[in-house]
Amino acid sequence: MMLFHSQTVTVERDTDGSVVLKLDVPGRSVNVLTKQVFADLDAALDELYRQQRLPALIVRSGKPSGFLAGADIAEFTGIKDASEAMAMSQRGQQLFDKLAELPRPTIAVLHGPCLGGGLELALACDYRLVFDKPSTQLGLPEVELGLLPGWGGTQRLPRVVGLERSLQMILSAKRLNAREAFQWKLADAYAANEDQLREQFARLVIRAIGEGKKKRDRLPLHGWRQRLLESNSFGRRLIFRGTERILRNRVPDDMPAPSEALEAVRIGIQRGFEAGLKRERQGAARLALTPACRNLVNLFLQREAARKPAGIDSAAAIQRIGVVGAGVMGAGIAQLAALQGRQVVVQEVNTAALQAGLARIDDLFAKAVERRRISNDDAKRFRASIRGTIAWEGFAHVDLVIEAAVEDLELKRNLFRELVNRTSPTTLLATNTSSLAIARLQEGMAHPERIAGLHFFNPVHKMPLVEVVQGAVTASDTVTRLMRLAVELGKLPVRVGDGPGFVVNRILMPYLDEAVRLVGEGMKIKTIDKLMRKFGMPVGPLELLDQIGLDVAAHVARMVQQQLGQPLEPGGVFEQMQQKGWLGEKVKIGFYTHGKKRPKPHRAAEELVRAAHRGESLSAKLPEAARLAEARERMVLLMVNEAWAVVADDLADAQTVDLAMVFGTGWAPHRGGPLRYATDRGEEAIVRTLQQLAERLGPRFRPKK
Ligand code: NAD
Repeated sequence: MMLFHSQTVTVERDTDGSVVLKLDVPGRSVNVLTKQVFADLDAALDELYRQQRLPALIVRSGKPSGFLAGADIAEFTGIKDASEAMAMSQRGQQLFDKLAELPRPTIAVLHGPCLGGGLELALACDYRLVFDKPSTQLGLPEVELGLLPGWGGTQRLPRVVGLERSLQMILSAKRLNAREAFQWKLADAYAANEDQLREQFARLVIRAIGEGKKKRDRLPLHGWRQRLLESNSFGRRLIFRGTERILRNRVPDDMPAPSEALEAVRIGIQRGFEAGLKRERQGAARLALTPACRNLVNLFLQREAARKPAGIDSAAAIQRIGVVGAGVMGAGIAQLAALQGRQVVVQEVNTAALQAGLARIDDLFAKAVERRRISNDDAKRFRASIRGTIAWEGFAHVDLVIEAAVEDLELKRNLFRELVNRTSPTTLLATNTSSLAIARLQEGMAHPERIAGLHFFNPVHKMPLVEVVQGAVTASDTVTRLMRLAVELGKLPVRVGDGPGFVVNRILMPYLDEAVRLVGEGMKIKTIDKLMRKFGMPVGPLELLDQIGLDVAAHVARMVQQQLGQPLEPGGVFEQMQQKGWLGEKVKIGFYTHGKKRPKPHRAAEELVRAAHRGESLSAKLPEAARLAEARERMVLLMVNEAWAVVADDLADAQTVDLAMVFGTGWAPHRGGPLRYATDRGEEAIVRTLQQLAERLGPRFRPKK
């Protein structure tokens, strides 16, 4: 019997007497908390408060995709002032309080994403059941948007999972899978499959009716660690102090969300739930209007838009894919394509290389199974859709070839000639080159309009960005089809022009180069990396060089900077390090030595760079703080400058450049990307600083705006 009906929420009494509140936001693939959902939930609760015969309330989603993915981010952009943000927080707090105080026990049944406001809603229920699916995720990732959980999450989560664990989840946006959620007692029951779901659900309902409402006025104190640390104010203070220290070290400058969230949790623990809610509202109001929040929310929305590029729905799909070269990149691309249901054939130079490539692919599948991304059966099935060849078998019938052989223009031109002969004239031909011009691969080829760049980043399964490169004569339809494929492979495609290093590598190179110059001038490797991590980069420039590999970086730097006529780092350090075999992480030695423990700066590398630069220090006379500030300016502004050049050369618009840098390199997301950062700081001021740097340190700083 239907008890309540609205656009997004229904309440029904089942034949067995249980009452189910079902959430289903029409027109959305996943549930999100919109203003409408708030209003409907509110009205539904009014009705439930009127119900006399209510054994227990079940709250669940009507969508197979999941419970509730969080707040509707688009609604955040409408917030104009602090009082509006505070009112929004208060409204959610009141609504979830109303649910929490319903006099009968409440049970949330969770599957798929249960994030942000979704988890705050589930936390307002007395009991939670998790259904284990690969997509099941529970978390409060608001800090990733420069916000805090503003609907009671900072108060309820610690009282369910404990203080330390809640801080881990709230401050680092940690998401738990179903099993972890059950282990952490965020969920009261766990179902691994449909059969268990029925059984566990029935049990939990009986338990809820038997045990009734749960009191949530104190920390849970499960296990020895919680009892030792969280049961007393001394232990809790230790946790808060330790957390503050971690935040000081790890959170970038100008990113206030984690410390606001920590403060809300602390006040709630020290002064009680109501005081905590008040602090949470104040935090929400303060954060909503910060540049960090605005930039992160904009990036989120831009990313969503970039996942639906114009025209892809009408572009012909790509089903069969040929990959040339099964090295690091080729293997990654082949595995990803197979994982997304494509038929793949991989061409290699000889049997040994092919076997090594297929072993790499096997390894990627094994890791995906290990990480529980896919089941063993699925891995076997998808792996079976990849075939290897050393004689181009099957290439006559593919829709697309992705060339990922070694980075050598003549070799690639020969390969493209071969491909033109071996494939049908309508087969798209893409290269994964990092630094060669697409135009040079199109020259003299039949049907060059089907040739483009499809630049994946390393490691393919992790890095979200793909640059789709339009050469001078590449057809628009070719690019659109590749954009569609990239989206279907789960990537974020950006359409860019055919310039040296495209967008990401071009902007990155002068930065990496400058970091090496700073080492040459006597600045410590660790200091440089820390400086840029504090700016907001996920890793420092020298750590990044170790990840990329000094050989790859040297090659790309040389190609890109030569094409651009930019001066190369004067000491020839990359070459020297390459000769010594200090190639970075893959050989466990580069700018750092990598072992089981934390990487340590590699002193001999530091000395090598200094000797190459003859130890001259251009800013040695400055006091320490000014020296650090200038070092940061040098590295950051070179990227801003190059980003301006990319736009001026018409290779991408400002928004695309920012998206590419954030999703291709992890560029300080809370600053919105290099060009957003320049706008926020003032472009004129940056131009002036660049001019000053150019006068003192050389023409590489000449403003390109
Ligand atoms: P890799 O050396 O790991 O693999 C290259 C593979 O190509 C080898 O297995 C080799 O046997 C094979 N190969 C060489 N000539 C061939 C031919 N004529 N026919 C078929 N196979 C051939 O190189 P990689 O790092 O995977 O790079 C591949 C491409 O991707 C390059 O163009 C590189 O610039 C680009 N890329 C590399 C990275 C990276 O970080 N490694 C990132 C983005 C793009």
